[in-house]
Amino acid sequence: MQGFRLGSIFGFEIRIDLSWLLIVFLILWTLSAGLFPANYPGLSNATYFGMGLVATFLFFASLLAHELSHSLVARTKGIPVEGITLFIFGGVSRTRMDAEHPDDEFQIAIIGPFTSLVLAAFFGLIAYIGTNAGWSVVVTGVASYLGTINLILAIFNMLPGFPLDGGRVFRSLIWKYTGNQKKATKIASTSGKWLAYLLIALGFWELFGSALLSGLWLILIGWFLYNAAEAGYEELLIRTSLEGVKAQEIMTPHPETVNADLTLQDLVDKYFLSRRYQSFPVTEDSHPIGIITLNQVKDIPREEWIYRTVRDAMIPTDTGVTARPEEQMSQVLEKMQESGVRRVLVTQNGSLKGIITANDVAHWLRRQRDLGNQMG
Ligand SMILES: [Zn+2]
Repeated sequence: MQGFRLGSIFGFEIRIDLSWLLIVFLILWTLSAGLFPANYPGLSNATYFGMGLVATFLFFASLLAHELSHSLVARTKGIPVEGITLFIFGGVSRTRMDAEHPDDEFQIAIIGPFTSLVLAAFFGLIAYIGTNAGWSVVVTGVASYLGTINLILAIFNMLPGFPLDGGRVFRSLIWKYTGNQKKATKIASTSGKWLAYLLIALGFWELFGSALLSGLWLILIGWFLYNAAEAGYEELLIRTSLEGVKAQEIMTPHPETVNADLTLQDLVDKYFLSRRYQSFPVTEDSHPIGIITLNQVKDIPREEWIYRTVRDAMIPTDTGVTARPEEQMSQVLEKMQESGVRRVLVTQNGSLKGIITANDVAHWLRRQRDLGNQMG
């Protein structure tokens, strides 16, 4: 998940996914044209719009506070946090790894809903005091909306389905009780999937009960949760399987290479069309200097293929697409993800030892599974 960079708080990079712009618009519209005019009649359109803007902004700040609290606690537990991305259904803290102890996971997970609950109490109190003191509904209306939405956030996030916060709390408790993280994740993910089914069913029920928009929302959220529950479990399976495994155990050794001065036309004719590989290491004087995939070639207009060379199109090795033979696979996977080409060259002292593609990882995992080497 990329998105654009907003800035940074406490050293955490804040990013916004493009899908978030859609939700900002939806919230602003729902509030300015729907909720506020219905609840507080008799104000001007400009006032409703102003209330909508402030409420949307503070809703955004509330979500950020929720995620920041996760990130801050994670950091005190020694878990590196890259930053926070806000997207259509809220936010995620981008961490490089999971908690190693169930108690840590419990604290990291529960602080988020707790923060939302504190915010709900804070805004609720403002609304309560303001209403009794006769403040303008412009203030109390916004405050009471924020109190409600933060309460909903706290409750929704505490539903016991992984990867929601409540699901993580649930997982940490089973993990602590059984001492088995994988089993705990499986149970919490299954519960996440059931929760997703329930949300989808509720959504369809609302759909036929003529609450079109909220029905669609529930279905969308349920679908998202289902996928997240499945992905979360599979990611853990891969991570635990690859724990302690080194790059040289996974790599395909001595891969076929192409010369940097080869034209793209020759590359396509003599390599891509006649071999089953999607990528080749690029060498110069038998040293690896880059990697070329079919995608890079496709980016260059076909009529230029006769004179452009592999060197023009390749991804150079200095962009982080190399790993050492003894490097941990957990690190290598990150490089594969970040480089954007989903493969790395394994090099040692300037010479090529092998290549690792997503296929190599998949093969290795399948072999382990066939050999029954996987735990549980
Ligand atoms: Zn959370």
